Amino acid sequence: MANRTTFIGGNWKMNTDAQGGIQLAQTLASGFQRDAGVDVAIYPPFVYLRDIAAKLGGSGITLGAQDAYFQPNGAFTGEVSLDMLKDCGVSSVLTGHSERRHVVGETDLLVNKKTRAALDAGLQAVLCIGETLEQRESGKTDAINEHQTRAGLEGISKDQLGSVVIAYEPVWAIGTGKTATPEDAQDAHAKIRELIATMYDQQAADAIRIIYGGSMKPGNAAELMAMPDIDGGLIGGASLKADDFLSIIRAGQAHQV
Ligand code: PEP
Repeated sequence: MANRTTFIGGNWKMNTDAQGGIQLAQTLASGFQRDAGVDVAIYPPFVYLRDIAAKLGGSGITLGAQDAYFQPNGAFTGEVSLDMLKDCGVSSVLTGHSERRHVVGETDLLVNKKTRAALDAGLQAVLCIGETLEQRESGKTDAINEHQTRAGLEGISKDQLGSVVIAYEPVWAIGTGKTATPEDAQDAHAKIRELIATMYDQQAADAIRIIYGGSMKPGNAAELMAMPDIDGGLIGGASLKADDFLSIIRAGQAHQV
């Protein structure tokens, strides 16, 4: 069996305030046992990144950004570049989150440009994919996952793939309290891994981490991560509560050993 380090990400979305975000980061930093063999990253709002970087210090928790623009600088009002994020201590970026695809309207092409730019800048990219409820009900889950994976990874070399995590996040499960069954999620993850083998090779497929997102919480994290192709989780709501997030991290650690 492939030896992949479990990855747990906390996507704060547009939540917290300055004081609450710093407090949350501090509690996570003191509660996280860095040598426990799990990679942990948090994705706070842009404006708090610098303050939170200072709190994470040597905790071993990676600081990530929820988005980034692909251009290095220029007339792109409101956008944030990868170098700016690096200045704030960021080393991981979410790309293609469903809320950016479906609320903000990001296209596959833009998601690909952002993913490539993040990798070119030397950052980790967490590429999010997943089907809507309508797509699931019309039997298109695998086709959507294949399409978004191929489009998102267009032009990305096997070497660069080493810095990519794929987050399978069925849109109907995000923030809804509904979770894919471990079996359904495993089936999707296994198919994505098979696809990576055809796009790259078996070694790349065995190495890449494919994590699940969609209402993961302390009560279901262990059974999801027990599945052979589920290598961790991207957590929204439950990442805003330090106890819940630390409990999911512990479930990931238990799975790792
Ligand atoms: C997410 O934001 O990526 C997510 C999975 O959210 P939630 O855990 O709240 O469903």
